[in-house]
Amino acid sequence: MSNTPKIQDDSVAAPVAVRAAWLADGCGACFAPGVLVLRGRTVVAAGSPESVGVPGGAVTWVDASGSAVIPALVNAHTHLDLTLVPRIPEPKQFFQWLGGVRSARLSMTADDVRQSVIAGVQRLDAGGVAAVGDIAGTHALQASLAACADMGLEGCVFEEVFGMGPRVPACLAAMEAMTPAAAGHARGIRRGVQPHAPYSSDRRVFEAALRSGLPVSTHLAESVDERRFLADGSGPFRELLESFGLWDGTFSAGARHPIDWMAERLRAASAAPAGRQTRVLCAHLNDIDDQALALLATLPIDVAYCPRASEFFGHAGHRYRAMRAAGVNVCLGTDSALNLDTADRISTLDDLRLLMRRDQLPLSDALEMATVAGARALGLDPSRWDFSLGPVAGVIAVQLGENGAPAEFGKTSTAPRWICRPAVS
Ligand SMILES: [Zn+2]
Repeated sequence: MSNTPKIQDDSVAAPVAVRAAWLADGCGACFAPGVLVLRGRTVVAAGSPESVGVPGGAVTWVDASGSAVIPALVNAHTHLDLTLVPRIPEPKQFFQWLGGVRSARLSMTADDVRQSVIAGVQRLDAGGVAAVGDIAGTHALQASLAACADMGLEGCVFEEVFGMGPRVPACLAAMEAMTPAAAGHARGIRRGVQPHAPYSSDRRVFEAALRSGLPVSTHLAESVDERRFLADGSGPFRELLESFGLWDGTFSAGARHPIDWMAERLRAASAAPAGRQTRVLCAHLNDIDDQALALLATLPIDVAYCPRASEFFGHAGHRYRAMRAAGVNVCLGTDSALNLDTADRISTLDDLRLLMRRDQLPLSDALEMATVAGARALGLDPSRWDFSLGPVAGVIAVQLGENGAPAEFGKTSTAPRWICRPAVS
C-alpha cells in the first residue's frame, strides 16, 4: 500500500510513530487518542500522546487519527482451498451442505486448488490477518504451506484426513508418514493434522493423530446430529456414511456427548505406549450443555469459535462466554469463504465486530479472542500479538465512522490497512 511506510526488521531502524484515534489490544491496553512507536517490528512505546511524548531522533509520523490501531489478527480456523468454490446453494441441512462441498472438491484440478489457496491467502492479507490455522485437503497441503510462507503468515496448516469404516487402515497407514520430522517447517508455518470430525474419522484415527506429536485440530460438537450419532450411531450422519459406502459397522457408539468422546480419545492417546499428551484445537462447539462445559474446562482443548459460520448454519446461543469464564482458551476463526458475508476478505475482524454488535462483548475481550487467544491455540508466542514492549507480529489500522468510540467498534465495517506487515523471510 502506497501510504504504508517501509519498516525495516532491524533494531537500528528509525522509529515510526503512529497517531491513532485510539489504540487497543487484547490485553486491556486502550488509549484514546493513542500513539504507537515502532522500531522495525518492535514496539518501543504505546500509550496516550502525553505519556509517549515525541520520540527522539528522526521519526516518521503515520497519521491514523481517524482510525483504530490494533495488533494484526489471528484466524485460527479456515479452509483456504475452498475460497474459489462456487457457493453451495443455501442448505436445509448441514449434512447436505457437506455433500455439496465434497462434490465440489472432487471436481477441482490441482491448479484450481492452488489458485483457490492463493486467493484465500490474499483475502487473509486483505483482512489484516498475520497467523492462520488452515485446514487443507491432502491435495492442497503443499500449495497452502507455500502460499502462507510467501505471504509471511505464521501458524499451522492442518492436513485434513477422513478415515471411517473401510478407509481406516489406509488412513492410519498414511498418517504413519506424518511424523514431526517428516512434517518439515515452511518458514513460520508448521504442518499439522486434522481428522475431519468424529462422524467422519474413526476413534483410531483420532488417537493416532493425538499420538503423532504433530499439532492437531478437528471439528467438534458442531450440531445435535453429531451428538446423536456418537450416542447411538443413528441419524443423518449414519445415512451420509452409508451413502458414501463408508459404513461397515465397526463404529462404536455410546458417548454421552462429543466432549466425552474427545476426552476418551485424549485419555487413550496419552495412556498408550509412547503416548504423548497434546493439545487439540477444536472448531465450533456449538452444541455444549452444562455437563460438557464442565468437562471441557478440564481438557487440553483450545476452542476456535467461528461466529459467522455458526450463524450461517442457524446455530444460536454459542456458550463462548461461559467457556472463557471457565478458563477455556477460546479464539476466533472464520471457517471457509463459503460461509462469509465479506467477498474481499477472510478475516476474524468481521467476527469480532459481530460479537461486539450482537452480544455487546467488550472490545478487549473481542480483541483477545482475535489475537492472543488464537496465538496460544496455534502454539505462537502470544506476547507478539499485543502492544506490550517488544516484538509484534503486525499492526493494522481500521477506519472509524462518525462515532469512533472503542465501544462502538462493532458497528464499523471497513477493511483494515497494514501499518506494519508480517516479515517475509
Ligand atoms: Zn471448518
